[in-house]
Amino acid sequence: KEQSERKRGPAIPAGVEKTTFLKALDELSGQLGKENVEINDQPLKDGWYMEHPNTHDAMHVLDEEELVASAVVYPGSTEEVQKIVLWANKYKIPIFPISIGRNLGYGGAAPRVRGSVVIDLGRRMNKILDINPVDHTCLVEPGVTFYALYEEIQRRGYKHLWIDCPDLGGGSVLGNTLDRGIGYTVYGDHWACHSGLEVVLPTGELIRTGMGAMANSSSWQIFPYGYGPMADGLFSQSNYGIVTKLGMTLMRNPGGHESYLYTFPNEEDLAPLVDIIRPLRIGNILENVAQLRHVVQAIAYSGKPRSSYFQGEGQMTDEQVREIARKELKYGDFTWLYYGMSYGPKEIRQYKLDIIHKEFLKIPGARRIDPATLPKTDYFWSRDRIATGIPDLEELQWVNWYPNGGHIAFSPVSPVRGPDATELWRMARSRAAEFGHDIFPAFCVGLREMHLIVECVFNRDDPDSRKMALACMRAMIDEAASKGYGEYRTHLVLMDQIAKTYNFNDHALMKFNERIKDTLDPNGILAPGKSGVWPARYRGRGWEM
Ligand code: FAD
Repeated sequence: KEQSERKRGPAIPAGVEKTTFLKALDELSGQLGKENVEINDQPLKDGWYMEHPNTHDAMHVLDEEELVASAVVYPGSTEEVQKIVLWANKYKIPIFPISIGRNLGYGGAAPRVRGSVVIDLGRRMNKILDINPVDHTCLVEPGVTFYALYEEIQRRGYKHLWIDCPDLGGGSVLGNTLDRGIGYTVYGDHWACHSGLEVVLPTGELIRTGMGAMANSSSWQIFPYGYGPMADGLFSQSNYGIVTKLGMTLMRNPGGHESYLYTFPNEEDLAPLVDIIRPLRIGNILENVAQLRHVVQAIAYSGKPRSSYFQGEGQMTDEQVREIARKELKYGDFTWLYYGMSYGPKEIRQYKLDIIHKEFLKIPGARRIDPATLPKTDYFWSRDRIATGIPDLEELQWVNWYPNGGHIAFSPVSPVRGPDATELWRMARSRAAEFGHDIFPAFCVGLREMHLIVECVFNRDDPDSRKMALACMRAMIDEAASKGYGEYRTHLVLMDQIAKTYNFNDHALMKFNERIKDTLDPNGILAPGKSGVWPARYRGRGWEM
């Protein structure tokens, strides 16, 4: 949709007089330049992936005016980030950092507290500070996207360096890594692959983690631990600091690669297949973050809406979905798809591929799809690019399944075991069926654990559809938690609920997090409520959702 008129008027931070707020913004303009401070008083535009807003969530699951910025500011340097932080403390104005703000499915660019000032770091702080072709590392500012890093490596002719990217390449390397996002080469666990942060603390001090704490270290990007307590974890999925630089390790071009796709016919194949995957993945025969997807998502990749296949109400049955897949796709009859990639020279790949083939074919009816039979437009080739670190955008297609598609995800972590996979999949599907909704489940196998990413697409312009999606997610989270499964990452709106499920010893971890928050951020200005961590000034005052 084009844009929405503002029903509620501009959002002003709670507890701050409008005149004081406007005066404070003037003061900040004096420090950053008028052009780098924008009040958010215009109609809200959701835009699209490449022209996403930085004022709210482009895929809002609440009314779009609910989690909305009062203003957006654009620092051009670490020093300017420090100035913004000091300014926020002076006026007790909540601030919320984004790098690019394409955290779609998890809140986009929206702040957790309505009326926060969004710090859009990506617009001006977007330099690739270093690409080290010897150590295979890089150092980036917040605004460096996966596309930008990939293109710069190509421009410099470093054929031996690969990056790792998530399904969509337009996000920032830094923001995705802080949110513990995943990609699909051997370096898919982005947080595990980072090395070194530069951070502005909520009171304005500047620190560097790892070897970077030594003023003259030459090892910042190659040894993440440094010396003493390792602080990095405090700045991931947190509200303890604003990260202004991130070190990242880069993969070496493995000297060859080969994508493969297997299909499995029946829903019940899931459990034995997951038990086959586990030792292969831990043994590194399956080398990349493995993707096991359901047939319904394969249909949705076409980008056509559900209504072009099915006009009925309620969740489509497996049989209906398989029937469509038989007609529309070139993969025959199937329920599950496994996308993988083998790396290295031909003889090394062949050794691994033979084992995988033998193991996967233990499932009756399993088939390897010959890539030569697939047109270049087939989704298989998108997975092929992503698993070689080439950024892509094809994954956006399934967001068209329902009109005005937004999406939100339920992402529990579990052991890589058949019974767990079946339990989670059946639970997610039956919960979604109660709400009459299709869901897109994909198992991403890290190494010893897997995330089941259940994508739920909804109509952003239909309050009932949004309400349904949220209620469905909440029901899944509670049921999963009652069975011992917790989420790895979540949308802003679900953060409180999920934080509560991490409840060992009377929520001892949250009490610890709150103590750190109150120590580092005594005025509670930085991203209050992020990951369910509320500062003292907000705690227990009705902000939780
Ligand atoms: P931002 O929105 O800039 O930031 C992400 C988070 O980090 C936010 O919570 C933000 O507050 C915080 N943050 C950002 N910068 C800072 C900073 N400097 N200091 C402190 N905190 C900061 N994600 C995956 O990981 N893997 C996938 O495969 C994947 N597939 C997707 C597929 C689809 C169709 C869609 C719609 C989304 C997908 N996503 C996936 C989610 C999302 O698109 C990516 O994770 C994206 O990289 C995040 O956007 P960003 O980098 O712009 O992050």
